[in-house]
Amino acid sequence: SKMSSSNFIKQIVAEDVRTGAVREVVTRFPPEPNGYLHIGHAKSICLNFELADEFRGRTNLRFDDTNPVKEDTEFVEAIKDDVRWLGFEWDELRFASDYFEEMYARAQLLIRKGKAYVCDLTADQIREMRGTLTEPGQESPYRNRSVEENLDLFARMRAGEFKDGEKVLRAKIDMASPNINMRDPVLYRIAHAHHHRTGDSWCIYPMYDFAHPLSDAIEGVTHSICTLEFEDHRPLYDWVIAECEMEATPRQYEFARLNLTNTVMSKRLLKALVEEGVVEGWDDPRMPTIRGMRRRGYTAEALRAFCREIGVAKSNSVVDERMLEHFIREDLKLKAPRTMAVLRPLKVVITNYPEGQVEMLEAENNAENEEMGVRQIPFSREIYIEQDDFMENPPSKYFRLFPGNEVRLKHAYFIKCEEVVKDEAGNVVELRCTYDPETKSGSGFTGRKVKGTIHWVEASQAVPAEFRLFEPLITDEAAESGKPFLECINPNSLAVLQGYVEPGMRDAQGNDKFQFFRHGYFNVDPVLSQEGRPVFNRIVSLKSSFDP
Ligand code: ATP
Ligand code: MG
Ligand code: MG
Repeated sequence: SKMSSSNFIKQIVAEDVRTGAVREVVTRFPPEPNGYLHIGHAKSICLNFELADEFRGRTNLRFDDTNPVKEDTEFVEAIKDDVRWLGFEWDELRFASDYFEEMYARAQLLIRKGKAYVCDLTADQIREMRGTLTEPGQESPYRNRSVEENLDLFARMRAGEFKDGEKVLRAKIDMASPNINMRDPVLYRIAHAHHHRTGDSWCIYPMYDFAHPLSDAIEGVTHSICTLEFEDHRPLYDWVIAECEMEATPRQYEFARLNLTNTVMSKRLLKALVEEGVVEGWDDPRMPTIRGMRRRGYTAEALRAFCREIGVAKSNSVVDERMLEHFIREDLKLKAPRTMAVLRPLKVVITNYPEGQVEMLEAENNAENEEMGVRQIPFSREIYIEQDDFMENPPSKYFRLFPGNEVRLKHAYFIKCEEVVKDEAGNVVELRCTYDPETKSGSGFTGRKVKGTIHWVEASQAVPAEFRLFEPLITDEAAESGKPFLECINPNSLAVLQGYVEPGMRDAQGNDKFQFFRHGYFNVDPVLSQEGRPVFNRIVSLKSSFDP
């Protein structure tokens, strides 16, 4: 089985299939088109699609578009794109707004059965009269309107006779119910707003608790999976299905939402980051949105493997973000070519190498995957190394370059540092080294050993490149400090460096992925890269102390 054994929902479905309670498993992913999907949604997507898939059932993509003010077609298209990118194809594309007419008819049915009434109380009054956990609510003075009056008022609500907030339709259930959701919940509200699909044909809109169960039933959804905060709404879900006399009887199951360490996931906060210009947009590689993670370089395979591993739980918890990083490393380990990039360049002149000569050296593309073959990389008298790989006065156990010390250049020769060139301010601007032709990589040289191996890029053909390194936008520690959200932003969440990559990467295409020797996994930014001048996003560094 592809799915984690901790998946209690799968066990329920398996039992329903075994007993014949359910003939075909039907699930749905029901996003509200009011923003972009994030990694939390990915969990719900994987769960719904893989569950149906496992039992050869089907999954609908249904937009929960019952709140016209916040919703837009832009989000509909982005969500469809993200679901497809994750690797899933829905059976049918549906919109809750497809069912507005039927929902209206079902509401009329409730009125005729004496199970719903038009109420003139304001939203505030309704809230005040709803009671508390320990105190029952008070009945609305409009609760006992006649069926005829209710039908007439509801029709006039629909016809646009009343202003926003003047009237609502409420279920008539029980103001003393221990479950506050059952205390005559609102089913319809008035909103004179343009809807992205139905335009101006409606000015009353169903509430989530009414629209969701009906949409599920209309589509023949068998297992309606949602997050834990809806557990208390389940009796209302069942009430709507039963009292509206729906033929199909979908069942709701709740699972814990995904939370990740050092990651904000609430749409409201993500929106603030975009609107305040903290990030470049919804697809900023620091964002936990699917678009952001995609642009950063996360693969759909890695996200799906992560979602499977975390499984579904019945209680809320926080998953370590290093678990997610583990899965992208695993996915790219054998797929990504391993090349060399210098992020903070320091020029090295090899004084005993003939001037004007360039030789080609062979380098394997992936030491763990021979099938990826080899490439040729140039070597000459001038190369770049990493500033960090040289220290003038090193501590003990420093095995990289320092005056008089010898290191191995990956895929090339041993070089020895002979001289340090500084500018007027005393900064090291160049190293003068010698190389030993006998030590060529692959030649079988065993004459002596060096302790350090460093990476490099040949200077004359090096391709200038930009590197973007990331840290969390907000750490959990900062978020818990009590300061306002926008004051908690990590000032180091983005570092932009200018360096070089091997000539073979000159034509790297957007979303090509590489492992840069010693630096980690990088993705070619599809937005910022230009012809001959790639921009690389660091997806993740090479190592982590974490092993799930
Ligand atoms: P947010 O609070 O981030 O805006 P939402 O729940 O309002 O999220 P919807 O578009 O309504 O967003 O969500 C679509 C589906 O995704 C729902 O079934 C919801 O339960 C699920 N979902 C949203 N966030 C998470 C999460 N963090 N973990 C798991 N599932 C989630
Ligand atoms: Mg929602
Ligand atoms: Mg929401």
